[in-house]
Amino acid sequence: MNVAVRFAPSPTGLIHIGNARTALFNWLFALRNDGRFVLRFDDTDCERSKPEFAEAIEVDLRWLGVIPDTVEHQSARFGLYDEAVERLKAAGLLYACYETPEELELKRKVLLSRRLPPVYGREALTLSDAGRARLEAEGRRPHWRFLLPNHDGDPSKPRKTLVAWDDLVRGRQSVDLASLSDPVLVREDGSYLYTLPSVVDDIAMAMTHVIRGDDHVTNTGAQIALFRALGAEPPVFGHHNLLTSATGEGLSKRTGALSIRGLREQGMEPMAVASLAVLTGGADSIQAVASMRELAERLDLARTSRSSSKFDPIDLERLTQDLLRDMPFAAARERLAAYGVTGEMAEPFWLAVRGNLSRLDEAALWWRIVTEGPDDDSELIETDRAFVRAALDALPPEPWDATTWKTWTDGLKQATGRKGRALYMPLRIALTGRPSGPELADLLPLLGREGTLARRP
Ligand code: GLU
Repeated sequence: MNVAVRFAPSPTGLIHIGNARTALFNWLFALRNDGRFVLRFDDTDCERSKPEFAEAIEVDLRWLGVIPDTVEHQSARFGLYDEAVERLKAAGLLYACYETPEELELKRKVLLSRRLPPVYGREALTLSDAGRARLEAEGRRPHWRFLLPNHDGDPSKPRKTLVAWDDLVRGRQSVDLASLSDPVLVREDGSYLYTLPSVVDDIAMAMTHVIRGDDHVTNTGAQIALFRALGAEPPVFGHHNLLTSATGEGLSKRTGALSIRGLREQGMEPMAVASLAVLTGGADSIQAVASMRELAERLDLARTSRSSSKFDPIDLERLTQDLLRDMPFAAARERLAAYGVTGEMAEPFWLAVRGNLSRLDEAALWWRIVTEGPDDDSELIETDRAFVRAALDALPPEPWDATTWKTWTDGLKQATGRKGRALYMPLRIALTGRPSGPELADLLPLLGREGTLARRP
């Protein structure tokens, strides 16, 4: 089987970590099965969908490392949906309804007050041609419902009809079609709700697996019926749990909560975000995984929790630091070059500073300190200044290597009797302008004798 999956965001805001989870589950599933990954914008709602959000979503996904094989826009595919509508109408499976939202709400309330499930009673099916004409003459436009196959020929007598599937995450699932209202596929103004375009495209694009949030489990019952009504076998479904914030609230595209954009701007590493988005709620502990291949191997849909999982952004800082600490120069090279970190010194510099960074762009600051000198040594008190001057006079001759720092400070210890903090801190402040940072033993060879002497206070 040629595996094909899709991520189908509506471009109504920036994607957040929960959306990224869905995208990554699909992406990693494709990666592991040598499959195709389609980014399909669910933008049939022309009012709320914005091209700038679609663009931003694509940029954010690429930043994360999710690179679609193709990008599709549902807004460019209305012809296909119109065709499907005609087929359903011809088969008597799509029927016109004229109730206003207020009338529907009233029906719901009446049913609820009688302790009946608030399921649409299919009253529109009993409308005569004259009745329909009268409503249209009043200016009402129809919306269109899909007649669910939950009856034996008489739609006014629905009966229990279980639609079942083996869910990649949740195991055996079933939905009773008699518990659902016939879904509206087309609105009064002719616009499409998500249900039909999604199924039509899953068929047209030969999707083999649909992995999405568990807020769609009920939709799946109706959508499986729709696949069959359109003459297609449904794909395999997997419904993963949703992420909530650390305080348990749901994430929303519209509020911008934990957006991928925001996390990027905070300097979080893409693989830290991907690792947390994928491994949260999984069977194993959450660790920073450096490559998508490895993350794909760890994806275990069947062992993912079925209840919602809390996502704590604090973990991202730790995962980012872990990734930076172990990041080989080759993996950082291009990004460092963008900060002007180039040349022969770039690699030893990276190896010296990477363990001390909480975000990669801090390397730019350390590069400036190493190549240009500290921006501030005002913290050095007067007695320490004298000590540092004397220490610089005692610098060992070049060539310098990783042992130079020890040779130098051992000598200073002997000569001055200073030790511990009193010995190291003035040197650190004079050389870097900061009370903490990368190991001085690693930095010293980068400064060189001349560079070190230039820091004489
Ligand atoms: N736009 C829908 C969502 O973001 C797509 C659901 C699906 O994958 O079918 O929830």
